[in-house]
Amino acid sequence: MEHNQDEDLNPYSEDEDQNETKKKTDGDQTKTTTGGTLSNLHSTGFKDFLLKAELIRAISEAGFEHPSEVQVNAIPRALEGKDIICQAKSGMGKTAVFVLAILQSIDSKKPDPVSALVLVHTKELAYQIHREFERLGKYLVSVKSQVFYGGISVEKDRERLTEDPAIVVGTPARILDLYRRKYLKFDKLRFFVLDECDKMLDQKEMGRDITEIFTKTPIDKQVMMLSATFSKEVRKLASKFMQDSEEILIDDEAKLVLEGILQYYVNVREDQKNKKLSDLLDNLLFNQVIIFVSKVERAIELNKILRECNFPSLTIHSGLNVEDRIERYKQFKEGIGRILVSTDLFARGVDMEKVNIVINYDMPKPLTDKQDEIDTYLHRVGRTARFGTKGLAISFVSSPDELETLKKVQERFVLKISELPDTIETDQYMNQS
Ligand code: ADP
Repeated sequence: MEHNQDEDLNPYSEDEDQNETKKKTDGDQTKTTTGGTLSNLHSTGFKDFLLKAELIRAISEAGFEHPSEVQVNAIPRALEGKDIICQAKSGMGKTAVFVLAILQSIDSKKPDPVSALVLVHTKELAYQIHREFERLGKYLVSVKSQVFYGGISVEKDRERLTEDPAIVVGTPARILDLYRRKYLKFDKLRFFVLDECDKMLDQKEMGRDITEIFTKTPIDKQVMMLSATFSKEVRKLASKFMQDSEEILIDDEAKLVLEGILQYYVNVREDQKNKKLSDLLDNLLFNQVIIFVSKVERAIELNKILRECNFPSLTIHSGLNVEDRIERYKQFKEGIGRILVSTDLFARGVDMEKVNIVINYDMPKPLTDKQDEIDTYLHRVGRTARFGTKGLAISFVSSPDELETLKKVQERFVLKISELPDTIETDQYMNQS
């Protein structure tokens, strides 16, 4: 039943017309907030959101000292019950926006099943978000979260659903399947969330599943949509799911990529890539690194070569069964294995806070006319420099097409990507503790 679309790259291509003002567009009843200042970061604390004591305690244990700009702007609106479209640089804590708003609003003594539904495009992201509900909801013991995706027996899912989770996180195809079998009910649903929503709504089949699920939920609910990137088309589509929504836009596209990430390219022949990679891994200092390749077979092959050379490498791609995928996700998240060879499965949403280097062993490729490799570049390099840390992105360029992609990236994000110098000071791409 699961779509085999996790690895499809289907982002958009266009230039957003963003400004630095607050505006209300009466026509579509969407209010937009853009910009925001760093001073927000220091003047607002999580306590100012008047969150439950159980949440404040879990937030503090998670090590969150201050809310980020997107959190300062979006959490109060989410708590008011507004429908929101929220765009901010990846790695700035969009997950906590909806996780905290939901945990705060659900009745913590007797929560209704299913009060909140969060849909995402990959199994790993679903698992990650479910874990964030568990982490931040640790002291709200009656509020249970469960995660559902393809590749697991539906009967097992059914068993877990008998525990009446208040929060359900999952991939659209499996959620729809569980609904059609009547294992999952939405009559009590109050929150409907789409994370990485442009990626989800842009894919025909997935978009259809989401729409079908949406129509089975009560009209009166809060809708939250989040992503680092939104095309005009997706924004238009998203507004169909919303009532009187607020748009929260933090930063324009150029800033999304520029901040915190040092970016270089290397001219290298295809048959020299492994040698170059091994030199880089030997000479650069990294906590963890993700190496992106274009295909499953290349991920398997490269991982094998790296392991033969004694690099602590693992790989993740759609060719693995679901247990292996989640297991490897967990391993890498826990720091077991410092090098991850991945396809674009990991290009979006996945949060590995220790990653300080991303290498595009293969530049992102457009898979169809509609798909935009420039957007994929943005999401891939966004796997480093999480939550304001430093990061380095190095792209291998081995063909005229890849050179063209590099050019387009620079044009679109108005930045210059230089050739990799012989040496880079470590403190430019690694936070010193
Ligand atoms: P996004 O969805 O914007 O890409 P995430 O929600 O994955 O970002 O958050 C990125 C990382 O930042 C996560 O490791 C998360 O735990 C951490 N984080 C989120 N909010 C805060 C905060 N206020 N203070 C410190 N770390 C935070």
